[in-house]
Amino acid sequence: MAIWNLGSINIDHVYRLDHLPRPGETIAARHHSVGLGGKGANQSVAAARAGAEVRHIGAMGPGDDWVIERLRDAGVGTADLQRRPDLATGHAIILVDGAGENSIVIHAGANRAIDEADLSRTLGRITGRDLLLIQNETNCQVEAARIARAAGARVLYSAAPFEIAALRQVLPHASILAMNEGEAEQLFREIPGELPVEGLLVTRGSKGAEYRDLRTGQIDRQPAFPVQAVDTTGAGDTFAGYFAAALDRRETVPEALHMASAAAALKVTRKGAGDAIPDRAEVLDFLG
Ligand code: ADP
Repeated sequence: MAIWNLGSINIDHVYRLDHLPRPGETIAARHHSVGLGGKGANQSVAAARAGAEVRHIGAMGPGDDWVIERLRDAGVGTADLQRRPDLATGHAIILVDGAGENSIVIHAGANRAIDEADLSRTLGRITGRDLLLIQNETNCQVEAARIARAAGARVLYSAAPFEIAALRQVLPHASILAMNEGEAEQLFREIPGELPVEGLLVTRGSKGAEYRDLRTGQIDRQPAFPVQAVDTTGAGDTFAGYFAAALDRRETVPEALHMASAAAALKVTRKGAGDAIPDRAEVLDFLG
């Protein structure tokens, strides 16, 4: 019915340079661009462009109103965003050299200062027909997941970036766990044995994706669509957002995997993160 997303919002500053700076070195950038990023914002944009009703819960610093406009333009509900006048909006400084090698600095800022009381009030409106999305770039995931589950809603936990402490805390409150292949390998090393969730979604880049229903043992596999990859930033977020939107529409797992895979394939043919996520019409067009 509705997707609530407790997620990070980052402003991505991308600087193109001849080479990455060495300690003590100052170099001029050849090009600078600013875009919308953060796993949370990307997943909200993907779910909204997939056609879902999305309410983003997250926190931003003062100013940066273009970010809110960009989210709204993508169809994301922003009425429940928290503002923290004392903190910076989360941002990433991304340095890219001529060979495409990068160095990234992330500052979480307001993303990790979500107010719990405010969040509880917001999620007081979640219903059993809704879905909660969470990732590892904010605080308050356990509180949010508890409220959602108590209301009967499912919780899709996109457990990236990989953080074992967060995973151990949040996992018991999740319904579906989503991660990429590398993260899944780390998970199985750290937590061998049965996972306390109903389903596990693993994406494997150009090798596709699979969903395991841990209650029935059913495994659904989806190959990746062959495309010329230009920028894989946000591929997993596009996949997660589209997958969530399909579940929210009560589509079957194979249908959800198919659409999410096509959306993510289209994303990797484009440069950028949140701004480069395709909408449903573009994905249907891609599928022919
Ligand atoms: P993450 O971005 O989280 O590391 P993956 O790399 O597993 O996640 O990518 C997520 C999904 O995006 C894949 O399952 C696949 O459907 C799609 N994808 C990623 N890279 C490619 C690619 N080179 N070609 C086609 N699809 C891709």
